[in-house]
Amino acid sequence: MRLVLLGPPGAGKGTQAERICAAHGLVHLSTGDLLRAAVAAQTELGLRAKQAMDAGDLVSDEIVLALVRERLEQPDAAAGFLLDGFPRNTAQAEALDADLGEKGVERCVSMLLDDEEIMRRLLARGRKDDQESVIRNRLEVYRDETAPLIAYYEGKKLLRSIDALGTVDEVFERIQGALSVVESRAGEGAEDSVSGANA
Ligand code: AMP
Repeated sequence: MRLVLLGPPGAGKGTQAERICAAHGLVHLSTGDLLRAAVAAQTELGLRAKQAMDAGDLVSDEIVLALVRERLEQPDAAAGFLLDGFPRNTAQAEALDADLGEKGVERCVSMLLDDEEIMRRLLARGRKDDQESVIRNRLEVYRDETAPLIAYYEGKKLLRSIDALGTVDEVFERIQGALSVVESRAGEGAEDSVSGANA
């Protein structure tokens, strides 16, 4: 399976991504994790990305696409992958589609969560980019740059939206439900006839 997990910061993408990848044998590609590792290792790329990350802005498409391409070219990714935190804007989504060609994204799961709950969760998490002013900026960036991808994947008939409020187990079950069609189809190219809770 080739999946995109979409959602605002604090929606629980990372936690769910790990479980989904373990359950389906997918490579977990988190651009946030890759960027944080590059910052920690003080690579040139990390140094270039750090300022934008600290401010809650998006890192340049050029940097992020280089990281994603490097990872997706590794042989294990051929068996399937889950993209977590990527794409983050339409330009990235279009670049991804162009790169993948016929072996494109098969499903985008959009995790829905309201701003109040996002703020509560991120303040509790307390990462460096989780201070209130930075969170507000990250939410704005999500709304302006990333949320349009909901319509982008809906237009391609790849979108399933799920409620991200609930226990980790509850949300996991909802995502599994959103993936069941993709799994049963197993690349046969059959019509997607299941109606989900699309938003
Ligand atoms: P995340 O852990 O996915 O919330 O990412 C943390 C930070 O890394 C974001 O606030 C951005 O600064 C940067 N970042 C992660 N993924 C991307 C991406 N696909 N495009 C641009 N910046 C990104």
